[in-house]
Amino acid sequence: MKITLLTGKTYNIEQAFDFDLKVVKNPRAKKLTLRIDSKERLPVLTIPRYCSQKKAIEFVENHRLWIKESLARLPEHKPFENGETISLFGKDVTITHAPERRLGAKIEDGRLLVSGDIEFLHRRDKDFIKKKAQSEFLRRSNKYAKKLGETINGVTIKDTKSRWGSCSSLNNLNYNWRIALAPDFVINYLMAHEVAHLRHPDHSQRFWHCVAGLCPDYTEGESWLKRHGKDLYLYE
Ligand SMILES: [Zn+2]
Repeated sequence: MKITLLTGKTYNIEQAFDFDLKVVKNPRAKKLTLRIDSKERLPVLTIPRYCSQKKAIEFVENHRLWIKESLARLPEHKPFENGETISLFGKDVTITHAPERRLGAKIEDGRLLVSGDIEFLHRRDKDFIKKKAQSEFLRRSNKYAKKLGETINGVTIKDTKSRWGSCSSLNNLNYNWRIALAPDFVINYLMAHEVAHLRHPDHSQRFWHCVAGLCPDYTEGESWLKRHGKDLYLYE
């Protein structure tokens, strides 16, 4: 943002720093202030009408440590928000708060309608995704299991912190609910991976050969998870 100084010159204050800074000019502000925009994860500097460039820069410099510490303290999670578009089972849906409805949550015309108090939007959203994931992941896993001539006992949706999926010796498959937020080819890769474990309880060559048979483009799903998997943990 360009600001005009008392001298009439304009300058771009953001460029004075080696970190991102948002500058807001507020003629009604009495003094320089700094705050953290937690959504954008940025420090925001508010500049009053009369302020020199030197003073503004000095002010930010004096708060360098505070900025760094404040940014580091920001939570690494965010709730689902009204109006936010997420990918759900490979399709974009916009989370839409619909307090007038009495339906819990429902997908309709590219929207994920969530009723009830806005305060519970995140929880209702998550509950809905977990419930849907159970039937959707069971359906997809069954499809692969059938190809192998194997049977699945059941699918359990987990809220694990590190694993995407697992396969028990009793032919129960477990999936992390967050995988519902990944692209379609990633979901399919993971289902193929866990189903292949029904036959091979290891990561041998024969296992990967089996995965490839179920999901020919599995390497794309695998590398997506390696690169972007941690982003799915934004939602707690
Ligand atoms: Zn595995």
